[in-house]
Amino acid sequence: MSFSEFVRASRMYAKKEWENIVEEAKNDLSPFDDKIFKAAETLDKKQPAVQRALIEHHPGIARLRNRIESLTNYPKDRNLLSRALRPDVVRLMAMRTHRAQMLGREDYLDFVLDTAGISFDRMEGLLEETLGKYLPQAQRLAKEKGLDWENWFKRLKDAYPLEKEPDAEAIVKAVEEYFKGQDWNRSLTIHIFEKGLAGFARKFPDGSVHVKIRPLTNAFSLKTFIHELSHAGLYLESDPDHPKNFITPPTDEFLAAHIEDALINKICTQTEKEAIREIRTLELVRIILSAQFELDLWKRRGIPEERYRIRHEKLLPVLDDKIWTLDTFRSVDSLLIMFYALGQASRDCPREEPDVKKARIPADPAGVRIADYFGAVN
Ligand SMILES: [Zn+2]
Repeated sequence: MSFSEFVRASRMYAKKEWENIVEEAKNDLSPFDDKIFKAAETLDKKQPAVQRALIEHHPGIARLRNRIESLTNYPKDRNLLSRALRPDVVRLMAMRTHRAQMLGREDYLDFVLDTAGISFDRMEGLLEETLGKYLPQAQRLAKEKGLDWENWFKRLKDAYPLEKEPDAEAIVKAVEEYFKGQDWNRSLTIHIFEKGLAGFARKFPDGSVHVKIRPLTNAFSLKTFIHELSHAGLYLESDPDHPKNFITPPTDEFLAAHIEDALINKICTQTEKEAIREIRTLELVRIILSAQFELDLWKRRGIPEERYRIRHEKLLPVLDDKIWTLDTFRSVDSLLIMFYALGQASRDCPREEPDVKKARIPADPAGVRIADYFGAVN
């Protein structure tokens, strides 16, 4: 089986996943997981993208993950749901670690960090440093806007309405220019829905790229739109012809968050920028706390409820520590949240690597080593 079949299977999976998430379809993703897994088995197992597929799309892992993600056969009630998910989420983590070890890695976290090009200590240091910088501001803003862990996203939207709805087409045009792209309107479709996920972007087997957003009536939606367009740009402007050019989710997330900040600077009006700066501060702190919590689980094997409380109470009181299973951590691809945090943090850190400074979009996004974005360690 060839690499192009691996790419095709991955995009078919992306399309079916899109249908489930955006169009409320009920596709069983397992047969599509199997196709990717089978294709990966025939490829060079030393390549990070291949290894990742051999873990994430392994039949046992894929089935459990799909069940958790689709919430099939779980209670509807949030309280009951958070509790029912617990054993499955814990089991999914253990399965990922086991698979990573079978591929010769120390554990799952070690595998992800190694392929993304950053060490555990470096990442932990950067997260802590960035948290220290933004936490006091976030505490003040959270209080001022009346945020808590339950109303977080609703409040973020309500607190930052936009007087004038930005022109989505003009934004796409500006992003296209930034990427030095061509003819995006032939392959990029923007879907605006009131309901569902705040933002989502996927590339389909025919090469078309689709972005789902909410109406641009508030600064949170605008920020999300620009973030998703950063993903879209990476998908539109790269077509892997070898496993080493296949962007894996951690790098994809890191770059999208890194590019998003630059785009906001370039595209948004002063008023929009001011609102987005506050949302960014709040979101960055939430995401870092979430990432640190996740690291606690992977590295320190801590008791989730305890670690969730310790981390999250730095910003706001935790009323129910059982809701950790509903946190962003419970996503299809685990361990992405910290790469989002690093992508945003990379804008605050001096970068010494000349190539990184010069290039807006790296020539080889899949080959990015995240540590290069943070300059030398001193
Ligand atoms: Zn993203």
